[in-house]
Amino acid sequence: MLNIVLFGPPGAGKGTQSHKLIEKYKLVHLSTGDILRSEIAAGTALGMEAKQLMDKGILVPDVVVIGMIRSKLEQNKNANGFIFDGFPRTEAQAKALDDLLNELKTSISVMLALKVDDEELIKRILHRGQDSGRADDTDALIIRKRIEEYNAKTAPLANYYNAQKKFVPVYGSGTVEEIFSKLCGEVEKINKQQ
Ligand code: AMP
Repeated sequence: MLNIVLFGPPGAGKGTQSHKLIEKYKLVHLSTGDILRSEIAAGTALGMEAKQLMDKGILVPDVVVIGMIRSKLEQNKNANGFIFDGFPRTEAQAKALDDLLNELKTSISVMLALKVDDEELIKRILHRGQDSGRADDTDALIIRKRIEEYNAKTAPLANYYNAQKKFVPVYGSGTVEEIFSKLCGEVEKINKQQ
């Protein structure tokens, strides 16, 4: 199985690149942000609770997102592999993901980490907010809060994956195609090793 953690701050291009990667490598895309937004759209209790936090740019509790990923992994046991987009975001989530994949007799192949400057992130998210319909994409203060949450709780995961020799930084500036081609270059290296 090819299991990729696509890592990076909000607005780094994880969603766009995930869609291109799943098409090319026939992987299952697991985005906790997308799953949460579909819970909100369906009006579930979980969605309503998560919305309160998401609208403020705060992470939802680990137990909620880990439960969502567990059920998606169970539903896709025969996949070629997975792209984790926006998950894990805390060390507890990263540990839980290792355990869940271990149960499926597989593991993370690589963490591809998109690097983009904060000011560029804010510009990109505000631009996306013009038609994404996301409340958390339209207010610069909330966007800054999301970046703060990322720097405090998520960025340290680079060390977690580095300790497993799985951390690969990729510079996220340039066109979508240029970045995609860099990501594919890294995936090809992994495919050769497997
Ligand atoms: P995203 O679409 O990945 O930018 O996520 C949007 C929002 O959903 C985040 O600001 C968090 O409030 C919540 N969220 C998404 N994924 C996670 C996660 N893995 N852990 C905690 N909160 C999450």
